[in-house]
Amino acid sequence: MRPLIWFRSDLRVRDNTALSEACRAADEGAAAVFAICPRQWQEHGWSPIKVDFLLRNLADLSRALEEMNIPLLILEAPRFAGLPEKLLEIAEKHRCGGIWLNREYEVDERRRDEAVARLFERAGRSFHAFHDQLALPPDSLRTSQGKFYTVFTPFRRRWIAAVEERGGITCLRKPAALEPVRARPGRVPSSVPGFEGLRRPDIWKSGEQHAHSRLRSFIEGRLGSYRELRDIPAENGTSTLSPYLALGVLSPRQCLRAAIEANRGRIGSGSPGAVTWISELIWREFYRHVLVGFPRVCMDQPFDHRARKIRWRESEEDLGRWKQGKTGVPIVDAGMRQLAETGWMHNRLRMVTAMFLSKNLFLDWRLGEKHFLRSLVDGDFASNNGGWQWSASTGTDAAPYFRIFNPVSQSERFDPSGDFIRRFVPELGSLDDRTIHLPAERAPEALRRIDYPAPVADLKRSRQAAIEKFKAKYSR
Ligand SMILES: Cc1cc2nc3c(=O)[nH]c(=O)nc-3n(C[C@H](O)[C@H](O)[C@H](O)COP(=O)(O)OP(=O)(O)OC[C@H]3O[C@@H](n4cnc5c(N)ncnc54)[C@H](O)[C@@H]3O)c2cc1C
Repeated sequence: MRPLIWFRSDLRVRDNTALSEACRAADEGAAAVFAICPRQWQEHGWSPIKVDFLLRNLADLSRALEEMNIPLLILEAPRFAGLPEKLLEIAEKHRCGGIWLNREYEVDERRRDEAVARLFERAGRSFHAFHDQLALPPDSLRTSQGKFYTVFTPFRRRWIAAVEERGGITCLRKPAALEPVRARPGRVPSSVPGFEGLRRPDIWKSGEQHAHSRLRSFIEGRLGSYRELRDIPAENGTSTLSPYLALGVLSPRQCLRAAIEANRGRIGSGSPGAVTWISELIWREFYRHVLVGFPRVCMDQPFDHRARKIRWRESEEDLGRWKQGKTGVPIVDAGMRQLAETGWMHNRLRMVTAMFLSKNLFLDWRLGEKHFLRSLVDGDFASNNGGWQWSASTGTDAAPYFRIFNPVSQSERFDPSGDFIRRFVPELGSLDDRTIHLPAERAPEALRRIDYPAPVADLKRSRQAAIEKFKAKYSR
């Protein structure tokens, strides 16, 4: 058997289930393929920085596969719809008896894979799909009533128990080189038309080796202080591994295993830093379980049916100011400018900026969700949608609608000396540590000399108005 291995969001050779299984089945070598689908990616709102990061990782993957005698072929089709026939052609041309892949769980991706499975089976070639994106398959954990979990804490408890029952987390090794096949690797393009924009190879270095050294340096250095520092955006307190996890350059198992090892084999107890970091990785698992259990979240629908009745405000101008980091609320602007300049935003600020858009501006959270995906290097549908629906109080286990972050208190609490604001909103650099959180109120005269806007919304009034609007829909 000669397998065709289809890489998607699993751009690595170590701990890759489909690759390992395909190599085990291969007795006449193997070929690999990656599909570039520009229209589909555009419709799914992918960002230029994510596409650039993907292409650089793909080039690294191609080299790693070449060392294993597996040529990575590059296929282009505007949309998923064109893929089944093209994949079959490749399989026929390279005499591959079947296709091996790791599952993706979003609705379009599942339909695409079902179409490929049907065509391959009709053509007498086998189809092998594996659960690999999560430590535990997304439909493997259910409540005692057999339902999908919708609340994080019991999900986390069950998840930890299930991992312990399995004896912990294991990772797969890089498979040994195969017998060579007669095919050359395809050329990985350095760009894809339609995705011109921000690139930051200086911050987001590509490749599995680099991802592992980033993981190691986090585990050996900052894991211990993660609980204390993870909410302080001015600190380098988190792992910044999300882009590598989103494209599968690292697997969640590799991250979890490293953290569990550092925590002497414990998962839910032990070092507070390790326990907290493991919980964040379980949030990632949770949101994928939600996506599989409630596919409507993939279809522009709120998880909470009551939220369908909400009439969001419409204001292109306010939306534009939020996107540009010109709302006049410094911590919100600092977060939005961090996103625009680096393709990444600190988690605390993702929550603050998302709440500001959906509550203080009362604009539809889906506009923010899309803008994030179009800007993030770690854009991941399930985590992004989960984070947005949490912030907008429309999701599973979401923030209650009456508990709205006050961005100024958040700023004073998590950026007490204004260091983060100064970094991304340099025009406010000369203000003192108190004034910088709310200059329009605390030093209006200083603002006359600085090119910085007045707040786009009155924080108190907009908060109250949002609570009333939610109450009217949610308490019936
Ligand atoms: C509105 C909003 C949008 C978001 N959009 C995305 C997104 O598109 N892609 C994305 O990967 N994460 C998203 N998150 C989750 C979180 O903000 C990022 O995963 C995190 O900031 C990445 O930084 P890190 O790698 O340093 O995380 P760390 O703090 O080091 O955490 C380790 C890993 O755990 C996972 N993780 C951490 N927090 C969360 C969380 N709240 N939900 C799900 N997974 C989590 C990530 O994979 C992360 O890399 C979003 C959160 C919010 C509130």
